Amino acid sequence: MQEEIKTRGWEMQRVCYTEFVYVEYNDCNGFTYEDPEYGLGFGTECRKVGKWEPVERCHDELVYVQEPWYPGPGEGGGNGGGNGGYVPIPPEGGTQPMTAPNARKIFSGDLTEEQWKKLENMLKKIINDCMGEGLYKELSKIFNSNNKISFNFSDKEKGAKYSPINNVITFNPNMESGTLLHEMMHAYQYKQKNDVDIWRNQTINSEIESHYTQYLYYCRDTVSYNESDWIKGKIRGDKRMLSTEKLEYYIDKKGNFYGDSINFEIYWDYTLLNCFKTYPGYENYKYTPYEDRMVNFNNLRKITENCI
Ligand SMILES: [Zn+2]
Repeated sequence: MQEEIKTRGWEMQRVCYTEFVYVEYNDCNGFTYEDPEYGLGFGTECRKVGKWEPVERCHDELVYVQEPWYPGPGEGGGNGGGNGGYVPIPPEGGTQPMTAPNARKIFSGDLTEEQWKKLENMLKKIINDCMGEGLYKELSKIFNSNNKISFNFSDKEKGAKYSPINNVITFNPNMESGTLLHEMMHAYQYKQKNDVDIWRNQTINSEIESHYTQYLYYCRDTVSYNESDWIKGKIRGDKRMLSTEKLEYYIDKKGNFYGDSINFEIYWDYTLLNCFKTYPGYENYKYTPYEDRMVNFNNLRKITENCI
């Protein structure tokens, strides 16, 4: 028996996202000069400098919420049914490979064939990494046939975000696999407690773990660190990236502590937390001060259990 086609149709949803806007301002420096004819003079030299600033934007959006149907292994053939949205073409006789099998396993969405391929390619890079594979396997246990992460490519989203309430990843098409890994990590973190209030109280904790996981992913050979979203953040002086990288002096690639605990505490409280709590857009995020800071890397340890 084929599964029931779940079609929820169009729903109005409140969509919020962080947009980075480029702001130009005049950077003026006073200077003195000596003119051979007129003597000492003063002036002001200005130059235009710019920086990216995050702005939180929200609007109501009509979202097509649909669970795409496709046959499970061995079911083959069948009729996907038509409801106006995109319905993936079921493989004939169950022998043709399904487009984007890894992506369709945990994600649902009204994506074009091209978008499914793009998502699948990013996922392949992630699964090619031991830690990424661990995360994907854990997500596969949570998100499957009836309960998947809704995935939405959107140019309006300047980066990417995971919304736990409606279980949606919104993703700018220009972002790459490391950013996808970051958002997948948020989905995994949220599901550990599955409680919005707990999630809100430890947003900073989750961000630290997700950022570090993302950084570790770039440090491995499967992706080029120099072309990553991460390095773009570093270049524009993003203090989240700059402060996260120093975690590697204290936390290894499997989320275990090594190093000097006094220095670690000083760095955690005065550098890392400070950078995250004051990051524009994160000011209202909450932090739960666990006595054992290693609690913050529980998920990283779990997804790297089988890695060297
Ligand atoms: Zn995040």
